[in-house]
Amino acid sequence: MRLPIIAGNWKMHKTIPETRKLVYGIVEKKAGLNNKCEVIIAPPFTALFTAGEAAKGSEVKIAAQNIHWEEKGAFTGEVSAGMLVDAGCTYVIIGHSERRLYFGETNETVNLKVKSALKSGLKLIICVGETLSQRERGITLSVIKGQVEGGLKYLSLEDMLKVVIAYEPVWAIGTGKTATKEQAQEVHAFIRESVRNLFNDDISESLRILYGGSVKPSNIKELMSMPDIDGALVGGASLDVESFIGIVNF
Ligand code: PEP
Repeated sequence: MRLPIIAGNWKMHKTIPETRKLVYGIVEKKAGLNNKCEVIIAPPFTALFTAGEAAKGSEVKIAAQNIHWEEKGAFTGEVSAGMLVDAGCTYVIIGHSERRLYFGETNETVNLKVKSALKSGLKLIICVGETLSQRERGITLSVIKGQVEGGLKYLSLEDMLKVVIAYEPVWAIGTGKTATKEQAQEVHAFIRESVRNLFNDDISESLRILYGGSVKPSNIKELMSMPDIDGALVGGASLDVESFIGIVNF
């Protein structure tokens, strides 16, 4: 039995006072729920420490949205894995499609970041997903295979215990278009099979694979009914207590 995860990716939203308010709201409402689910929130860098302080003593875990792969040095504007641990993070999101699209992230840099995060003791949410044109050309599964194999290169069985994969079709992110539960299940099952081939049955069966792309309180239940969907990575709907908790309480 895999413990579901609902993770909120706040992207470039929320000031420090807004963060405090949202985290207190999530913590309070989550404590009143009787469901077993790991809850993770990923505020922007500037609000990570505040979020960690506001969530202290609760089950809500803090994630960053990106890292640099070096430990320290002359990398203006970048933040290392160790700094994120210091700021109170347990998780880091790596390879989000917006980072691949706007900031030149590749399967190679994703892999460097993955290895650096593991070295610092962070857990990972590694994002994969095809664009609309890749889906229309019928190359979805080969794109996903390349992203999974590239991201997980050189990882040990032990490393894999800290890895979560998020399948986020790029055409479904922030567009209001959700993949059907069958479309998502097909790719999730394919990711699990790819991980089985790279590692073994135990790793593949225990791997949590999240779906992301316009997840809302109204569609989460349907998605969660599929055998290989173990939770969600949520963008827009994670910025409001009621909608995020509505998803957590699927
Ligand atoms: C995301 O950015 O990870 C995401 C899934 O966004 P949204 O839920 O807004 O589509």
